[in-house]
Amino acid sequence: MKDAAKKADILLQALKYIKQFEGKIIVIKYGGNAMENEELQASVFQDISMLARLGLQIVVVHGGGLRIDNELAEKGIPKEMIDGLRVTDDATLRVVIKSLKSVNKECVDGLKKVGVRAQNFTAGMFITKAKESQYGHVGDILKVNSEALLKPLAYGIVPVISSLGEDEYGHPHNINADTAATKIAEALKAEKLTILTNIDGVLDANGKRISHLRVKDIPRYIETGVIRSGMIPKVWACADAVKHGVNKAHLLDGTVPRALLLEIFTDGGVGTEIVK
Ligand code: ADP
Ligand code: MG
Repeated sequence: MKDAAKKADILLQALKYIKQFEGKIIVIKYGGNAMENEELQASVFQDISMLARLGLQIVVVHGGGLRIDNELAEKGIPKEMIDGLRVTDDATLRVVIKSLKSVNKECVDGLKKVGVRAQNFTAGMFITKAKESQYGHVGDILKVNSEALLKPLAYGIVPVISSLGEDEYGHPHNINADTAATKIAEALKAEKLTILTNIDGVLDANGKRISHLRVKDIPRYIETGVIRSGMIPKVWACADAVKHGVNKAHLLDGTVPRALLLEIFTDGGVGTEIVK
């Protein structure tokens, strides 16, 4: 009986947050590492199903991460990164496109399995222009086709978007998925951008989690090498989001069961929040 009362209590506690977030748009970036294990994948999809049922409008943006790394290794194509961005030559681009397609299908199928009305958006979402030539086929986002998402969202559909763009000539460009998620969040004026990765937020020089990271402190952490590699596009993505109308931007460990629910429905203590 005591247990039942406790459960009822917890549900009541969540009510405050459920009211606060009802109808709000949350963009979730699903990271390469947090989706490499079927059990974890299913757990994230379940969380998304819960959020969607509670009336939040969820958009999923995914990258290819480890999937791309593995495929490159198999084919003997060398991997090259500059500040967390993947240098994308012709052969790498082919692998990127193939991997993103398969990850997208996995997400859509996995979400449908837990009763979410998910729909794939693998093309036509981003108009890009080529970044500096050292990156190869990597694009900066010029325009987001957010209009295409409005109707699906209004109908309770969860769009699942791949981080692939094309330039004005239809030439495909690889985009960092953290950046892609940010631009979607900005275009939709989302309440929240949540980046799921394989680590519980940004760690400081002593390996301690930074729970609130101020935008103005980011350059110093990067210069001193505390924030490196794949974490660089993430912190810039979050900084960009909060500067451009997204209320909150968060980094969360997607490999921890229920991380999404904990972050949204409790008073906190998980991950890193980027604040202005
Ligand atoms: P994803 O596939 O989710 O995009 P990435 O590998 O691109 O993940 O980026 C996350 C990685 O960034 C972490 O696993 C960690 O190795 C690295 N990283 C670099 N600097 C930091 C830092 N200061 N705090 C936490 N992680 C960091
Ligand atoms: Mg990354």
